[in-house]
Amino acid sequence: MRLRTITNIAYAATVLLTLAGGVTMLLASSALEDERAAVSRADELKERTAAVGNDVLRLSDRAREYVVTGKEEFLEDYLHLRQAVQQDEARIAAIEDIGAGDAEIRALSEAVQMADQLSDEQDAAIDAYQTGDDAAAREYLFGSHYENELDLIDARINTFHSLLDQRTNNEVLAAERLARFWRAVSETVVLATAFIFFIVLYYVLKRRILKPVVKLSDVVSRLAAQEYDTEMMEYDTVDEIGDMAQAIRVFRENGLERQRLETELEHDLQLRNLMSRMTQRMQACDTMKEIAGVVRRFVPVIIPNCAGRLYVLNHDASGMVASCEWLTPREAASEFMMNDCWGLRRGTMHYHREADADVPCAHLEGADEDEKQSVCIPLMTQREVVGLLYMELPEESEASSRAETYIQMLAENIALSLSNIRLRETLHEMAMADPLTGLSNRRRMEEKVEDALGDLKRSGGKVSVIMIDVDEFKKFNDTYGHAAGDDVLREVAQVLGGLTREDGLAFRYGGEEFAVLLPGVSADVAASRAEAIRREIEQISIVRGDLVISDISASFGVATTPDHGSGEDLFALADAALYSSKASGRNRVTVAASPEVAHTRIA
Ligand code: GH3
Ligand code: MG
Ligand code: MG
Repeated sequence: MRLRTITNIAYAATVLLTLAGGVTMLLASSALEDERAAVSRADELKERTAAVGNDVLRLSDRAREYVVTGKEEFLEDYLHLRQAVQQDEARIAAIEDIGAGDAEIRALSEAVQMADQLSDEQDAAIDAYQTGDDAAAREYLFGSHYENELDLIDARINTFHSLLDQRTNNEVLAAERLARFWRAVSETVVLATAFIFFIVLYYVLKRRILKPVVKLSDVVSRLAAQEYDTEMMEYDTVDEIGDMAQAIRVFRENGLERQRLETELEHDLQLRNLMSRMTQRMQACDTMKEIAGVVRRFVPVIIPNCAGRLYVLNHDASGMVASCEWLTPREAASEFMMNDCWGLRRGTMHYHREADADVPCAHLEGADEDEKQSVCIPLMTQREVVGLLYMELPEESEASSRAETYIQMLAENIALSLSNIRLRETLHEMAMADPLTGLSNRRRMEEKVEDALGDLKRSGGKVSVIMIDVDEFKKFNDTYGHAAGDDVLREVAQVLGGLTREDGLAFRYGGEEFAVLLPGVSADVAASRAEAIRREIEQISIVRGDLVISDISASFGVATTPDHGSGEDLFALADAALYSSKASGRNRVTVAASPEVAHTRIA
């Protein structure tokens, strides 16, 4: 019940009880008043009737004295008293008004009637006396009949008094009882008022207000100090304090929610910082390998407890190859075709969750069949797939949905970085390729030669090079035009590419000069390879409309390190050998002279 209702009820009850107390007090005092009235009525009746008995006796005495003494004064007194007795009758008639009962009135009336009869006898005695019949007069007034009459009158008057006393007593008793009753009621009412006051004071003030308010104030102070994890008191009573407790509970819940959001925001900020650092590192990466290193380091920090793996496009863009992994993801194929992943097929996230009942990706088949939920996210930029992010998700759905948000952001960043690297690699490839022939250019050749010489230093063996120069190339330009010259260069390049695919690398060295790098190939094998190329070039025949260009040839210089000299001198040696071929009539292969031979020649 609400405090206002309780207070109103208590207030109304107190007012009613106070009124009832007042009324009962009035009733009690009115009962006492009745008691007093009964006593005073009795007194008045006694006072009024007292004369009746006296007057009868005095009248009888005067009559007797007169007939005994014959004195006139007694007769006068008698006559005077007789009038008084007649007045008594009138007085008796009025006592009914004072409240005398019927029985009392009857007793008194009988006494008066008898007194009247006695008066008649007194009159008769006086008459007898005045006529000289003293004996008769005395007989009247002193005879036993007369005495009896007197006694009877006395008895009636006594009856009247005793009836009057009895009735008065009854009335007084009844009034006293009533007064006692109303007093008791009045005391009860006062007690009830005091009880209600006590209950209101104890129950409402102490239990329903003071106690909860003290507790609430404690909670409010703690909430003010932002201690939102403070235990909230259980107060479900429907009243104003209950409303207050409910408001404080809502305030606390809001505080908790705000705190949770702040923590989440802070966490989110930290993760975004991490992600931004990761993106910066990835942007500075030069190779896919470097990107993989950054991903492996940052992803498990940004999304903890979630194992995963990064796949990138393989070199011929036909499928995916695992690039790196973290926190031991479940076993899976390290390389797979695009079609083996539903995520890549559909170009969108593909979940492996029990709840989704979705088709599993083939690249995960045969893996450890635990119930881990995971997701494949295609890494795409401008609708082109550049990789795949495979992530295992936490069991708990809330953590999982939070992780998914970050995974998506990560996927976008990684995709962008992978795409940048691919773009850079493509540009690099383009910078390293000769646009006319499609062969690698001289810059790439220098890189590859450096690699080959590095390997040689580490693991020994041989490295051979063949330098090729198209013989009298200028004449093709001059005779058939520059485009025809280009065709010749393209055909020669094709021959070189075809014949060196297995164990060598062909380059356009510049103009109409080419080079072939043969790591791990001896001078003899290199020479025979050069001879094979030479023969093949001789066979070239280019048809341009009606025109057929043949008689194409080239001169070759072969050098091998360490047989002919150091790696640094390899090209100079091959070039010198080529020069020899030119000098010896072109369309031939010359192997560099061994150092002893060269030395001998100089000598
Ligand atoms: P040699 O047998 O002594 O090597 O005579 P050569 O004519 O081949 O040598 P030379 O160095 O005199 O001529 C090379 C010519 O190749 C000069 C140049 O105009 C031409 N040339 C260089 N690059 C290209 C090219 O990309 N396309 C065409 N069509 N011609 C080129
Ligand atoms: Mg030349
Ligand atoms: Mg030439």
